[in-house]
Amino acid sequence: MNAKDILEIKALLTTPKKIVIVPHKNPDGDAIGSTLGLLQYLLNENHKATIIAPNDYPDFLKWLPKENSILKYDTQKEDSETLINTADIIFTLDFNALHRTGSMETILDNSNAIKIMIDHHQQPDDYAKYMFSDVTMSSTCEMVYHFFAKLEVLKDIDKDIATCLYVGIMTDTGSFRFRSTTSTTHRIIADLIDKGADNTQIHNNVYDTNSYNRLQLLGCALGNLKVLPEYRTAYITLSQDELQKLDYKKGDTEGFVNYALSLNKTVLAAIFIEDKNQGIIKISLRSKGSFSVNEFSRAHFEGGGHTNAAGGKSDTSLASTVEKFISILPIYSKALNNE
Ligand code: 5GP
Ligand code: MN
Repeated sequence: MNAKDILEIKALLTTPKKIVIVPHKNPDGDAIGSTLGLLQYLLNENHKATIIAPNDYPDFLKWLPKENSILKYDTQKEDSETLINTADIIFTLDFNALHRTGSMETILDNSNAIKIMIDHHQQPDDYAKYMFSDVTMSSTCEMVYHFFAKLEVLKDIDKDIATCLYVGIMTDTGSFRFRSTTSTTHRIIADLIDKGADNTQIHNNVYDTNSYNRLQLLGCALGNLKVLPEYRTAYITLSQDELQKLDYKKGDTEGFVNYALSLNKTVLAAIFIEDKNQGIIKISLRSKGSFSVNEFSRAHFEGGGHTNAAGGKSDTSLASTVEKFISILPIYSKALNNE
C-alpha cells in the first residue's frame, strides 16, 4: 500500500459508502477485534458499514462493543448476500486468500466492490485492489492502527475502537510475548490505553471467563499430552467423544496447544481436534525459533499461517492423522534439533 493508494482510499472515503468488512472463518480475537475497530471508525464517519463473519466466534469475544451487530454468513445468508452484492467497498481482514472465508469464497470472488486487504499472514493472494500486507506485523489490529495513521485519523480512535484493537494485539501476541511483539507494538498499546482501553478489564473479559467444563477439558487435553523428545515435539489429541462429554463450546480449546509448547526443550507443538460434523481433524501448530509451521502445514496439512503459529486440517481419522504427523518428523529431525 503506497502513498498513491492511500490518497485514493482517502478520496473514496470522503463520501458515505456501502461497506462490508469480512474476517476469516472461525474468527479469533484479532479477526473480530480488527473488524470491529475498523467498523466503528467507518460508522463514526457516516458510512453504512457491516461486518459479515463466515461463522460464529468464541463467547470470550461476545462483550466487545458492537459485537452483536456482526452478521454470520452461515445462518444469515440472505441478508449477507444482499449487502455483499450491493457493497461499494469490501475490506478483508486477518486473512490472505479468499478460501479462508469458507463458503463465502465464491460470492466475494464474484463481487465487483473495491477490495481492500489488511493482513499479516504469509504468502498472500492478490485478489484485492489495495493490499496492506505485512508479515512482520504482530496482528491485523496493529495494522489497522497503522492504517489509521496512514489516513491521518489516529485522533479519531475512541474508547470502543481502542478496546477492540487492544484485544486483537493482545490475543495474537500471546499477551505481548511472541517474537512479533516490538517496541512499536508496545507504543501502540500505550496509546490505546491513553485513548480509553481498560487493559485490566480486557484481560479479565478474555482470559478469566473459564467455565468449569473448559478447565476439565484442559485437564483431559493435558492428560493426552504426548512427547517425542528425539524430535523436540509435543502434541495433544482431543476426540469428539472427549469434547462432547465436557460440553465443548467454540473457543474452549483456544490456547491449549501452548501448554504443549511450554514443555521444556519443545520446538514443535501440535493439537489435533476431531470434528465429526465437518469430517475433519482440525490441527493447530506452534513452534519456537526459525522452525516454520507455516511451511510445515502447507506441505502436509493443507494449511498455513505464520512462522510460529499455523493451522491445518486432515480428512482422515484422528489416529491416522497423528500417525502421519509422527511419520513426517524424521524429515525435520535436523531442523528441530538445531533450534
Ligand atoms: P490457529 O491454530 O489458532 O487456528 O491458527 C494459527 C494461525 O494460523 C492463525 O493466524 C490462523 O489465521 C492461521 N491459520 C489457521 N488455519 C489456517 C489455514 O488453514 N490456512 C492458513 N493459510 N492459515 C491458517
Ligand atoms: Mn491475526
